[in-house]
Amino acid sequence: MRILVVEDEPGIADFLTRGLEAEGYEVEATVDGAAGEEMALSGRYDLLLLDLMLPGRSGLDIVEAVRGAGIATPVILLTARGEVADRVKGLDAGATDYVTKPFAFEELAARVRAALRVALPGDARVVGGGIEVDLVRRQVTRDGRSVPLSGREIDLLALLARNAGVVVTREQALRAVWGYEHDPGTNALGVYIGYLRRKLGEPDPIETVRSVGYRLRANG
Ligand code: CA
Repeated sequence: MRILVVEDEPGIADFLTRGLEAEGYEVEATVDGAAGEEMALSGRYDLLLLDLMLPGRSGLDIVEAVRGAGIATPVILLTARGEVADRVKGLDAGATDYVTKPFAFEELAARVRAALRVALPGDARVVGGGIEVDLVRRQVTRDGRSVPLSGREIDLLALLARNAGVVVTREQALRAVWGYEHDPGTNALGVYIGYLRRKLGEPDPIETVRSVGYRLRANG
């Protein structure tokens, strides 16, 4: 697994590179936005870790260029507290997730694992139950109608859609979408299933399989 780090603060770039290499990833890093964009557009990486504020091109510019080129590589943005508007723009432009500085390396590593699990190399479009998830543009449609969803909602729905007609267990969803190795006993999954139901509308495309998990109806 090869990760590109574009971060102009050398201390953070170094910290990320060493940490990710210790996790077994191959890491390439640059401090320059324009160089980072060129590298990202090569499509040689399994994940992009982009600082938002960079010299040359911003992290947001890079996300837009990568998605514009039809590259589905997962992207995690590194943002400073207070860059809320930029974070939203980043997610809208197709970033997979973001991590706010200062962050604990363990959290970042969990987000990286989750983003890599959700990614489907070479399979940019997932269809199930009348629902289409476009993983490149991060767009969802139901019976041709566009459904605006957040990044995590899209990841959860993509997981369900890939397994349409089959139960996705609570453990599988927590691991794939949140990066949890053990069930932390949070209700995050139930909350996000609720968001999806509300946004996808009637008829309810998601079946609850009591004390097991959830299933997207195959012909919903
Ligand atoms: Ca910066």
